[in-house]
Amino acid sequence: MRYFLFLIICLAVGCKAMPEPSTAERVGEIMDYMASDALQGREAGTEGIAVAADYIETLFKENKIAPYFKSYRDTLSNFEGVAYNVVGYLEGKDKNLKDEFIIIGAHYDHIGITNSPTTDSIANGANDNASGTTTVLELARYFGKTRTNKRSIIFALFSAEEKGLLGSAHLAEKLKAENLNLYTMLNFEMVGVPLREKDYLMYVTGYEKSNLAEVSNSYSNEKLIGFLPTAKDFNLFQRSDNYPFHEKFNVPSQTYCTFDFTNFEHYHKVGDENALMDFEHMASLVNKLVPVFVGIVNAPNREIKYN
Ligand SMILES: [Zn+2]
Repeated sequence: MRYFLFLIICLAVGCKAMPEPSTAERVGEIMDYMASDALQGREAGTEGIAVAADYIETLFKENKIAPYFKSYRDTLSNFEGVAYNVVGYLEGKDKNLKDEFIIIGAHYDHIGITNSPTTDSIANGANDNASGTTTVLELARYFGKTRTNKRSIIFALFSAEEKGLLGSAHLAEKLKAENLNLYTMLNFEMVGVPLREKDYLMYVTGYEKSNLAEVSNSYSNEKLIGFLPTAKDFNLFQRSDNYPFHEKFNVPSQTYCTFDFTNFEHYHKVGDENALMDFEHMASLVNKLVPVFVGIVNAPNREIKYN
């Protein structure tokens, strides 16, 4: 009888098993890989970052995320040496909305080996930006397993952000040349350590430029996103991979972040390591972001707008 009921419900609503929610354990596994010493700080153009790219590809394949181009690797045209973004694709299910794209992105490179006065010279970049990469990979897992997105999604992990936003500049130009119908570009930076003493969990760069915070909060039913004045003072809107998409497409392109210059002392230092990351916080953010992204990719209208 139970099975019969289950079958009826399946037939009625479409039987899509919900994937397991994110957990500290799952997040920790990805973080341990991305920020390990073996990857030598993931500097663009090095062997260490190639290992990270292989790992991202493996997770894409596991979650049935297709390559957007012929292969997952998209070689940068603006970098001396060999560096590549890793770009995945999940086609939308709605025959009209699938022509509209959302890019969910983060840079996976970091600054490599440094001249540190301590014995540790590897800048592991756990917060910057294994954490953003992990968030994108967890969202890719969710959408790859459910396959219910009406709009098409590009999952983009950028290289050479640390060399001056080169990976995102390359991809924005390439997608603009093919006239991609881009709705919005939503990026993740430094989400490994929670904000302190704020009445919100994350901020977005370019807060005042759009209604992204309002849209995000309406889907999460809480104050997930707030305004961080420092982000505006330091013009963080122009300092991450959202910016080239803003410039090329002039559609809402913004970065979600939980680093405010007071809650983490190891920005671009060798101390940016997994031991200081809060995997519970990261998993909780992913789980709170899922309904936000489900809402955004499936909404009948383009509700995120620049003012
Ligand atoms: Zn970064």
